[in-house]
Amino acid sequence: MNQSSDFDVVILGGGMTGLTLAHHIAQQNAAQPARTLNTLVLEPRESYRRDKTWCYWRQASTPFDEAITHQWSQWSVSFNGETQVCRSELIPYVRVDSGRFYDIAQRNLEVSDSVTLSLGEAATTMTAHEAGVAITSVRENYCAKMAFDTRPMPLPQGILLQHFVGWEIATDSDVFDPSTVILMDFVSAAQDIHFFYVLPFSPRHALVETTHFSMAIPPQEIYADELKSYLASRFDLSEWRILHREQGVIPMPRRAPDLAARAHRKIIPIGLHSDTVKPSTGYCYPHAQQQALAQVRALFSNPDADAVAARSRLSRWLDAIFIGFLEEHPERAGEIFYRLFSRVPSNALVRFLGDQARTIDVIRVMTALPMGAFIRQALRHVVSA
Ligand SMILES: Cc1cc2nc3c(=O)[nH]c(=O)nc-3n(C[C@H](O)[C@H](O)[C@H](O)COP(=O)(O)OP(=O)(O)OC[C@H]3O[C@@H](n4cnc5c(N)ncnc54)[C@H](O)[C@@H]3O)c2cc1C
Repeated sequence: MNQSSDFDVVILGGGMTGLTLAHHIAQQNAAQPARTLNTLVLEPRESYRRDKTWCYWRQASTPFDEAITHQWSQWSVSFNGETQVCRSELIPYVRVDSGRFYDIAQRNLEVSDSVTLSLGEAATTMTAHEAGVAITSVRENYCAKMAFDTRPMPLPQGILLQHFVGWEIATDSDVFDPSTVILMDFVSAAQDIHFFYVLPFSPRHALVETTHFSMAIPPQEIYADELKSYLASRFDLSEWRILHREQGVIPMPRRAPDLAARAHRKIIPIGLHSDTVKPSTGYCYPHAQQQALAQVRALFSNPDADAVAARSRLSRWLDAIFIGFLEEHPERAGEIFYRLFSRVPSNALVRFLGDQARTIDVIRVMTALPMGAFIRQALRHVVSA
């Protein structure tokens, strides 16, 4: 192993969050050479390939917008035989191709002389000391003034998990309506919270997912059985070709990790296993984009800047109340989501879900919910959440 190399910043993990942070640091380095932050990104993958579909309501531009392949201005939620179709031209629902995202990120980092992406290099240990952080990888030792840790962590026990399996399929006849995303289709009286999600790319091509919110993960074959039976009952399909599969488990803790309470000041956890993901929805991509930009701007205005939280205390508190309610009343989830999408104007609701709510949006969301049950939940969660 070589002797240690020094960096201002080391980012552990060149996935969605790590590459977004690295991109913004490279941009700022180019714009403010006097303040350059020499940065290293450690990523165990030897090369990138498309591995995920990232969807979100696009409220602001990002450096990766060229990776958006589809967008929809209509989405639906179905429960108990009723379907609510929602519409927004202003805030479309968009789909990011992760393969294109990685290409854009790599291309931008290749032209930077101050940010290095090291592929095929996993971090093995990290320790904080007074002057910074010591990191060991499979190849080398590094010292950094600060580190961002985006590595996957073991899933916490005893919390709700959003777990899903998706098949991107092609069919020989026209079955999907490409104008409308099926956001949540609650079709079964499952033990846990369960719905289907359909991202229609064309009449013959869609991503179909079965999604659960529960504390336990079922055997793998359950998801396949659910997808087959949904494709048969909802679309009358008996044959299809699977073009791509994806699956994931996203933690939905009542109390999301609090960056202010992190163990070491110079090690900032960020990404899916930190506070970046919005626990009540499982969406992470738009929050990571906002948080990374805000974090890098903070660092360039003050090198001693603290970690930038992904959302306000009010948003954290509202998430905690919502998740507390879902944990205690999973049987009411379909009804609650249907109420939200049918009673709250689309733009207000998607701003709320994207942590961009105005005061009036929060009021609209609160008044659409069954007040008594939510007030009881609210009283159990102190605002310090
Ligand atoms: C299948 C799937 C679909 C999703 N869809 C959506 C969606 O539609 N919308 C949305 O908002 N969110 C979605 N998410 C959630 C979230 O946006 C993604 O999980 C996103 O990739 C999280 O970014 P991240 O940087 O935290 O993690 P990752 O992108 O997984 O990056 C973590 C990185 O750490 C690296 N790593 C691992 N071990 C080490 C090590 N020892 N040293 C250094 N690096 C290491 C990994 O190789 C990886 O590149 C989805 C998640 C999954 C799994």
